[in-house]
Amino acid sequence: MAGTKTFTMIKPDAFGAGNSGAIIRMIEEAGFEIRAMKLTRMSEKLAGSFYAVHKERPFYQDLVKYMSSGPIIAMILEKSNAVEDFRTLIGATDPAKAAEGTVRKLFATSIEANAIHGSDSDENADIEGNFFFSQLERFN
Ligand code: UDP
Ligand code: MG
Repeated sequence: MAGTKTFTMIKPDAFGAGNSGAIIRMIEEAGFEIRAMKLTRMSEKLAGSFYAVHKERPFYQDLVKYMSSGPIIAMILEKSNAVEDFRTLIGATDPAKAAEGTVRKLFATSIEANAIHGSDSDENADIEGNFFFSQLERFN
């Protein structure tokens, strides 16, 4: 059975452009409940370890610099079929390929500065949520 939690970050481009409120509204209107939320900024070292699965990819260094370039909003979200439904809400990695009405279609500026992160599996949702939030902050 699909899990009920996913993890997201509003990325530095979207936060910096003042789109956080509009994006959070879309998330809530799509039926996700916010279970934990934090405004923070990753160091290059932390961004590097968050994206370690991509360390052999050509875009890794740029991605790490970009993700540590400004504040992000991290959230744990709850909904049935959370991971898949959230990936549908945010759209394809490349905004040029993202469906109409998705967060990335509306707010992303490039394949790198693509406004938002969404976990790709229940297992990674758990790992990523634990990366940003202590047990006390995951209060339910
Ligand atoms: N990314 C990039 N260039 C690429 C592919 C990905 O800069 O060619 C960045 C982009 O910010 C993306 C992140 O790396 O969101 C992680 O890539 P992934 O393939 O996991 O995409 P996602 O799961 O975020 O859609
Ligand atoms: Mg991914």
